[in-house]
Amino acid sequence: MKTAFITGANKSIGLETARQLAQKGFFVYIGSRDLEKGRAAAVKLAAAGLTNIGVVRIDVSDPASIAEAGRTLRNRISVLDVLINNAGIRGQGGFQDPLTVDLAIIREVFETNFFGVIAVTQTMIDLLRASPAPRIINVTSGLASLTLHSDPSWRFAPFKGAAYGPSKTALNAYTVSLAYALKDTPFKVNAVDPGYTATDFNNHRGMGTIEDAASRIVRYALMGEDGPTGRYFSDDNNPATGESPW
Ligand code: NAP
Repeated sequence: MKTAFITGANKSIGLETARQLAQKGFFVYIGSRDLEKGRAAAVKLAAAGLTNIGVVRIDVSDPASIAEAGRTLRNRISVLDVLINNAGIRGQGGFQDPLTVDLAIIREVFETNFFGVIAVTQTMIDLLRASPAPRIINVTSGLASLTLHSDPSWRFAPFKGAAYGPSKTALNAYTVSLAYALKDTPFKVNAVDPGYTATDFNNHRGMGTIEDAASRIVRYALMGEDGPTGRYFSDDNNPATGESPW
């Protein structure tokens, strides 16, 4: 049975992604910074008939917690096929003013959305290398696109917060670098925007559903060996091709 590990999967897009991958026959490890919330999510999935679920405690902003999660997973499995770096935060204030934002807010957002992804990836890389077709999805945002932000007529152009968008732009850059480092291997590494989705993240103001958001992530998690790597996908940014300009 193929295995997947998803950070921030106790609710919202992460949990729905877990549900869809479990339905497709994966054994899915739900990463949750609060073990009880993760267990409650697993109980919900089990009630829907999905028992191929495990729970791993992980706070992606805490190196000790990431190391512990790595040990937990290595005790349970020797191969990881899919890593989905999904956990993410907007930071206090939402779209922060670049002139006045407290740097502590920017650091906190980067700790989770950027440094956390790197640390989790490095911790899980040996388990992923054991897979014949490893896939890494970094859950990014349409707001990461510098090209689109430079177009004043873009519908999301006013959403230029100082913390969140830049953290996802940095995540995109890491995705490019990681994919390049793994280019001569069976790995596929991509950044995927789930789209503007109604979740706690935006007080349910998003327009998309978690089902659709998760299906965008799952599409790239299941890609075959001739699929792309090192790319940035966003149906919101380009509905025709699904691929976003950087
Ligand atoms: P959400 O409803 O706020 O859920 C975020 C998840 O991440 C929760 O499980 C949360 O855990 C977890 N998390 C936050 N900080 C964490 C940390 N330090 N360690 C471990 N887990 C942590 O957000 P969402 O809408 O599902 O977003 C999921 C991903 O999609 C994020 O990366 C987000 O940036 C991206 N995204 C969302 C939208 C959108 O419109 N919703 C659009 C584009 C991209 P707790 O329950 O413990 O807080």
